[in-house]
Parts: sequence; structure tokens; C-alpha cells
Amino acid sequence: MRIVILGAGISGVGAAKLAKHLDFDVFVSDKGPISIEYKDQLEKLNITYEENTHTESQILNADLVVKSPGIPNHIPLLKKIKAKDISIVSEIEFAYPHTKAKIIAITGSNGKTTSTSLLYHIMKAAKLDVQVGGNIGNSFAELCVSNSAKYVVLELSSFQLDHIHYFKPYVSIVLNITPDHLERYDYEMTNYINAKLNIIRNQEKEDTFIFNQDDKNISSGMKMLELKPTLLPVSVNDEYESFNFETASLKGKHNLFNMKCVIKAAELLGIEKHIIQKGLETFKPRPHRLQFIESINGVDFINDSKATNVEATYFALEAMKKPVVWIVGGVDKGNKYKELETLVINKVKACVFLGIDNQKLIQSFGKHKKYVETKSMDEAITKAKEFARSGDVVLLSPACASFDLFKNYEDRGNQFIDYVKK
Ligand code: ADP
Repeated sequence: MRIVILGAGISGVGAAKLAKHLDFDVFVSDKGPISIEYKDQLEKLNITYEENTHTESQILNADLVVKSPGIPNHIPLLKKIKAKDISIVSEIEFAYPHTKAKIIAITGSNGKTTSTSLLYHIMKAAKLDVQVGGNIGNSFAELCVSNSAKYVVLELSSFQLDHIHYFKPYVSIVLNITPDHLERYDYEMTNYINAKLNIIRNQEKEDTFIFNQDDKNISSGMKMLELKPTLLPVSVNDEYESFNFETASLKGKHNLFNMKCVIKAAELLGIEKHIIQKGLETFKPRPHRLQFIESINGVDFINDSKATNVEATYFALEAMKKPVVWIVGGVDKGNKYKELETLVINKVKACVFLGIDNQKLIQSFGKHKKYVETKSMDEAITKAKEFARSGDVVLLSPACASFDLFKNYEDRGNQFIDYVKK
């Protein structure tokens, strides 16, 4: 059986390792360059690969194609593969039959990494035999090579949930579905909702679905499906009398919601309340998500570089208790800034636009607040400092992708940290 893997990032290389482990004839093809580290890993396992091209004669003879999540669905090569009746699956789907672990899968437009890491932390604290992966750390396929743990907690993006046929988690969590990545879904919200809800499509009655009951996109998507799993709706307003959220390490209303979903999953797995509570307190929040950096001359500096869409920034602004000097901007993903207007009027004292094209931001907020345009983090921090007075907060929460001026959101956040420290 010949397996062709498209894309040689973390997901594709993981799939290649699993395919090799299963003794398939494996070929990896990447249209761009492959990193030295991944080439090394493939060569050590005698896996053949190509980079900077897709050679059709080597691909259209596949029995199965595994598509990496970074590759859009509409490229001509995929059409040709489909025309030849070759099955295309995601890495998640490919790996799924090769694990015995019970899967807890988490998706959503925002909060995936936070919730996945928190649940993993609590399960570890409860001494459960658990691994974590997917969109965080190791790929699922790579975890399936060793196939050792009793549980796997998976963070899944919508792209990883495209091309799902049989994948069926024991527990699934959908935190929220708000507009994001629409350029990959023909600018159709329904397509994006359907991709996310692939996480529950195959669940049976012995499985459980934990979801945000206040999210209209989730409820409208659910109406289209014949659902079999036990449903556990969660609302941010639910009372959780046995837990003290004041002492939890995660802050903000959005994190309160994430914690409530994670608690539901942890309880379902039989973890005792005092262990969950301890986990909420000992969890170390991940960097670049409302990360407090330092207070300088009475001004707090907060790095929320991971806020790459409007919804995430909404919750960041909502969580702020002091006047905000707001650093915002980058690559717009079809953002609708109207949602932020009231918060900006009430909480922001000045805006520092940080991006190559700031026109939409100027149109939306320029009429309400003082603003300045900047083209580097260095410049943005200098301007923010000029606006800020003791008792204010400088918040980087861009609501946009980072690729115009930075390598990725980590690079943007790290530059913020470095310049603040300087
Ligand atoms: P993801 O992995 O889905 O991108 P993260 O946990 O990395 O989610 O958080 C991404 C951004 O979204 C951060 O700015 C964070 O503060 C914000 N965020 C986290 N949880 C939520 C939520 N439930 N709703 C809205 N925004 C959230």
C-alpha cells in the first residue's frame, strides 16, 4: 500500500513516521522547503521525500493521501487526486485506527491550547496515564507510533478536522465557534462550523460532547446533525459551588469558561474535586495569552500576542481593569471591528496601530481615540510609553495575524517582551 503525505511539517512528518512504522510504502511531498531537522528525521527512517515541488507521477499513484492541515482544500493537485478516486484523509483520521487510547479532543476558535494544557495538567496531577498532542507538542500520528498511554488529550484545529471519516473521540469539547480562517472556507461560516463539528459527527452514545451552550454557531451546527453522544452543555454563568475560581491561575471571563469545560471533562474521567481545584491553582498559563510581563513606573505591560482574531481581543479588553494603551493590528482576516467598539470607547485611552496596512483600524477607531501608526515593535512600544501614565496598562492584543511584520505570533510576543524589558 502506497501512502503519499502532502506537507512535511510536524503533522506530515508524524504521519510519515507512523506510516513507516506500519510498513507502508511512504512518500512525502512538500511544495516548499523542508526543515533540516525534519529531513534528518525522514532520512534516518529511510523515508523518501521531495521538497519545493509536487511531482504528480509520484503522487497520483498513491492508494491513500494524507493531507497536512496547512494545505488549503482547493489546490489543483487535490482535485486531480480526487479525480483519480484516491482517498484523502487528515493526519488525525489516518492515525486514529492505530491507537487504543481513549481520546479527549478539544476544538474551538479560541481557548484550545489553554484548555488542552489545563486538562492535561489536571489529568497528570490525578496520576492518569495520559499524553497530549495534536495542534500542540507532538502530532497525534507520532503519539500513535508508541501507542502507550491510556488517554490522549488532543488539541484540534478546524484544518485538522477537515477530511474526517471515522475519527471518534470518547470526550469532545467545542469551546466556541466565532469567525476565523474564513479565507480557507470560501468565506462561508457554515463550512467552518461543519469542519469544527466533525469532532462529534461519529460519536456514539457511550461518548460525551461538552459544548458552549451560549454559542449560536454551535447550536445551529448541532441542529444539522443526528447526535448520539451524551450532551453536557456549559455556560459561563453556571454555578460551580465546589470550586474556588478566585485562586485559579487563569484570569478573565473567557478563562472562567475554559475552566468550567475542563472541570466537566475531568469529573467525567472520575478525577476528585480537590485534585481538580489544586490543578486550577498550580497550572502555569501559557505565554502570549494575556501574559503579564512587568510593571514599569506604574504601567503594566501585558502580552496577548496569541489574540489573532477579534473574539480573543474582545475578552482581553473585557478583562482589563485599568485604562488601556492598546497595541493592535497586523494581517486582517476579514475582521469585523464593530464588536469591539463599545469596549474600546470605554476602556482604551489611546491606540497604537502596528501593521503594514492600518486603514481599517483607523476607520473603525480613529474617530473615537487618539492613535498613532507604527511599523515595528520597537516603535510601537516607544509610542505606547509616551501615551501611558502610571496606573495604565499597555496591552498587545492584535486581533490580527502577525505575518506582515513578524514570523509568527510567538515572534511578535517575544519582541514585545524583549523591548519592554529593554
Ligand atoms: P487557541 O489555541 O484556540 O488559539 P489559546 O488558548 O492559545 O487558544 O488562546 C488564544 C487567544 O484567545 C488568547 O488571546 C486568549 O487569551 C484568548 N482566549 C482563550 N480562551 C478563550 C475563549 N474561551 N474565548 C475567547 N478568547 C479566548
